[in-house]
Order: sequence, then C-alpha cells, then structure tokens
Amino acid sequence: MNCNFSHEEIDNYFEGEASVESSKVVSEHLKTCEECKVYYSSLVMTGKLIDTDIKLQESIFKNIENRIDRHKYRGKRRLYYKFTNLISRKSSILKPALALILLCFITIMAIGNYSNIIGSMKPDHNKVASNPDMSTEDVIKTLISSNGGFTSKLLVQSPTGSSANKEDLEQAKSVIIKRLNILSMTQHEVNVDLPNSCLNITGAWINKNNNDFKKTLTDLTVPGKLTFQETDTKAADVNGKYPRAGEIICDNNDIVSADYADNGVPGQKTINIKFNAQASAKFAEATKKLLHKQIGIFMDDNLLVAPVVQEEITDGNVILSLPDEANPDIIRAIISSKPLLSKVEITDIKFVNN
Ligand SMILES: [Zn+2]
Repeated sequence: MNCNFSHEEIDNYFEGEASVESSKVVSEHLKTCEECKVYYSSLVMTGKLIDTDIKLQESIFKNIENRIDRHKYRGKRRLYYKFTNLISRKSSILKPALALILLCFITIMAIGNYSNIIGSMKPDHNKVASNPDMSTEDVIKTLISSNGGFTSKLLVQSPTGSSANKEDLEQAKSVIIKRLNILSMTQHEVNVDLPNSCLNITGAWINKNNNDFKKTLTDLTVPGKLTFQETDTKAADVNGKYPRAGEIICDNNDIVSADYADNGVPGQKTINIKFNAQASAKFAEATKKLLHKQIGIFMDDNLLVAPVVQEEITDGNVILSLPDEANPDIIRAIISSKPLLSKVEITDIKFVNN
C-alpha cells in the first residue's frame, strides 16, 4: 500500500479549489483507495473540528503537544520539528488546528509509509472544506478502520428514576459530547436511541493516551457538579476529609473557562478556573469572609481539595491545585461542561481494530 496519487490534488479538492475535472478524478480515486481515503478523512476531520468548536480547540494545543511522545517518534524527529516549528510560527487560533493536523499525520505515519504526505503539507490545510462530501459517520468509520476506536452504549435514566425522555437524552448527549471534545482523545459521534433510553457512541482514536478507556468513559459519566463551599474544618473525618457545611458559593454554571495552568511547582496538577462577573463578586466576598480559613471544593459529593484562602480573590481567577490521584484531563472536561442531570451508565463498550 503505497499510492502515488497527488496529495496536492486531494488538498485542492478538500479546499474547494480543484477544477471540475480534477474533482471528478479525486472523487473517483477516493472511492477505491483506502490510503488516500485515510488522508482525506484526516483533512475533513480537522476541518470539522475547527468548524464546530474553534474556541474549544484553542486550549487543547498545549494538551496535545504535551501528550505527543517525542521518543516514540524519534525516527521521525526531523518531521516532528518541522511541524512544531510550523505550528509555533502560527497565530494562537491556527496553532491548535495545525497541532491536530500534526496528530493526524503522526497517526497516519504510524500505519504506513506516508513520508510523501509530509512533503505536501501546507499551512492552508486548516481551511475548512467548503463542501466535504464525507459525512462525520464516514470519516469516523474510515479512521476506525485505519487506526482503531470504540463503540459504546450508555443507558440514561431520568432524574426521577424513570426511563429517559427526549429532553433527558438530549441533555445527556450534549454534556457527553462536550466532555469528549474537551478530552480530545477521539473524533466521535453520539446518537440518541429514544426507544431504548440509550446514547450510542462511535469514536475513532485521534489521541489515545491511556489503555483503560472504559474507565475514562466511566469517569466522564459522573454528574460532575463542581461546587465551592464553606467547610467546617473541625468536622474532618479520619482521612482528613471535610463534610460540606455552609452555603454553596459557586458552581459549574458560573465557570467561563477551565484551562491547564502552570503555577511554577513541578509535577503539580493545576487548573485555572475563570468565573463570570457575577460569580467573581460572590467569590470575592466569600474569600474575604473565609480569609485564612479553608474553602471546600467538591465534585458531586466528593471533596477534591480544601485549600486555605491566602488572600481575597477579586478577579474571578482561581488556580485549582489538584490532589495527586486526580486526573486533570477528566476534571477539566467535566467542569467545563454542565452537570449531567440524568444517571448515565455504560452498558456496553467494544473496541475495534485496537
Ligand atoms: Zn490513493
């Protein structure tokens, strides 16, 4: 499998700049050539990601760059640096798009000899296809067949315990999609199965960074209500955990963004939470009141951390230092989305071509 079809021609086709004649040739070729179909899928996938959620993608660049295992691609180091140099020259909006393309190419390189693709790499690949003739479903299928993925069924129960109605399923769908998007491990599609009160997920790996995706997905199906609360420090149990006490100060609905942060302490996992104006005022008032006392930060019923308030926080920016056992990727994905209102449970997960 080493097709010599011109990638430049495919690029032009993707960007809607190919002649009618060339478009026909490319379109026909894509029907029969798996190799070029994978290449084209990666372009379409990137286009779709940029098109749907460009703001979201801005923050994943650092995440992706951190996750790329440089040693694994040692043999391709020259290409890696070529890409990272290209990325670092681009604006902050284009960076994540290019990082994604880089990932697609690394993925593609891992399954065959595609070094010729690199030669044809041009910055304007981040343009969105004017009319990509592949559906998201086709793109995901192609990527799964080349690089693996999963299918999963999630059972959704309404907050009252009865079977979920359409609104319950749509709410769960939008939350799960948002969490998966932020996690940026997969390109995915989530469909509602109303008769069975289920969500069906199909996902292709774009950045699989662990071997236990079932656990990752399970972690993503928690309600995920993040609350900042007053705590009673005298009521700590034997593990030093504090029960909630006093009023809730802020929650997910008050969060504008949650990004990875660096507080200068090596190895410390930190997330920078930005509150909206209204919550910022509430938080300033609370931190003034709780100065030199602890503030409890809970995920659902679990206390994440209870830092001592060192100073009044007036700008609505909170650096959350996570405990060692916490997974910052999952926590960030969860707190960047609304809480799940329904109970969501994985009833089936299958891995394909892994
Ligand atoms: Zn081909």
